Amino acid sequence: DRSVCSPLPVLGRDVTVPLVTGGEVTYAALDYAASAPALQRVWDDVAAYAPYYGSVHRGAGYLSQLSTDLFENARGTVAEFLDCREDDQVVFTRSTTDSLNLLASVVPAGCEVFVFETEHHASLLPWRDAQVTYLDAPSTPRQAVETLERALAHRDPSRASGPALVCVTGASNVTGELWPVRELAATAHAHGARIVLDAAQLAPHHPVSVRDLDVDWVAFSGHKLYAPFGAGVLAGRADWLRDAEPYLAGGGASRKVTRRTDGGVDVEWHESAARHEAGSPNVIGAYAIASACKALTEAGFDTLVARERHLIRTVGEGLAEVPEVKVLSLFGDDSPRVGVISFVVEGWNSSHFAAALSAEYGIGVRDGLFCAHPLVRTLLGSDPQTQGECGAPEAAPGEKSLNAIRVSFGAGTPDEHVERFVRAVK
Ligand code: PMP
Repeated sequence: DRSVCSPLPVLGRDVTVPLVTGGEVTYAALDYAASAPALQRVWDDVAAYAPYYGSVHRGAGYLSQLSTDLFENARGTVAEFLDCREDDQVVFTRSTTDSLNLLASVVPAGCEVFVFETEHHASLLPWRDAQVTYLDAPSTPRQAVETLERALAHRDPSRASGPALVCVTGASNVTGELWPVRELAATAHAHGARIVLDAAQLAPHHPVSVRDLDVDWVAFSGHKLYAPFGAGVLAGRADWLRDAEPYLAGGGASRKVTRRTDGGVDVEWHESAARHEAGSPNVIGAYAIASACKALTEAGFDTLVARERHLIRTVGEGLAEVPEVKVLSLFGDDSPRVGVISFVVEGWNSSHFAAALSAEYGIGVRDGLFCAHPLVRTLLGSDPQTQGECGAPEAAPGEKSLNAIRVSFGAGTPDEHVERFVRAVK
């Protein structure tokens, strides 16, 4: 297996870090769910293009035209990567958070949003102008579908007069568990609702097909998809995007601006994705995302998934040998997941544990509540009123952990990193 599926080359493989015990060791980046290292291929592509970049959509010069072409072609690459429908738009944003805030800004008046309480805060919080119905944490994928079905079937028309939108994650950033996206989309559509997929954790690990999953929009971040920070994507149905006021107002979003005789200003906004991309766009970020999409496609998700399964098995079996370790899961320990695993260790403060992994073994994981406070509280069975904030709350001796440790990995992870992690936990 290993010879067939070697890790994809990523940046930072040779970075060494000091250990408190003396000496140094190569850094084991096991926090992919927060930000994955960039692929070497992405870096090479960006480095090759960097000397030539110029202003996008503005300049008449050769390099401006080249940059405009690369920026616009990047949309096509992303659309292909996501298997978008013909009429879908691909809007470049800053991140998944930005993408979902953009969608929240274009929902029609009177929209009701349905969101599970288990979502990342980026999915849970942006719907400020909509009526939000929070759905209870399900304990099986089937129950997730039933919960949504019930909520949509018993919609109270007095709560919201407009359309309904469901927002759901593809893979949890806490448990790594896969959500039944296709079934949730079918349920949403059966009730005339629309659905947006938060694919921040899914897209780096599994192919995402807008057509096959039949979702209306997809959001993801470049920095979790082996590209650098600063760019993300919202792709999907054009109508709500086209009918709404621009997310950002300014140059690039406007087609024509005229001064009225009464002193005011009239604006005609673009109807394309540019409508929501005012200002000079992040052409390098978009180009890097497109490069990552191509690299993942060329490597083949079958190969990537097979390799990741092997890593998940190594971690799962290793943790199972430590009686003090409790792996967190909503749908049961055997439910399919991506390479994201959270756990607590009896008798240990999670923050101290994560700090020890770093200081003694050169392993970078994350501890805390992972921007999914309600979910982590549910998984830990902790009292919401006494729960600490994001950071490192201390559990008193003998009490339940108030936060967890998360190990996450992906395409560039060598076996040695997860083996070192298992050894360190033991
Ligand atoms: N959704 C999920 C499931 C995530 O894991 C994250 C990042 N942890 C986000 C949304 C937000 O992504 P970003 O910070 O890139 O906006």
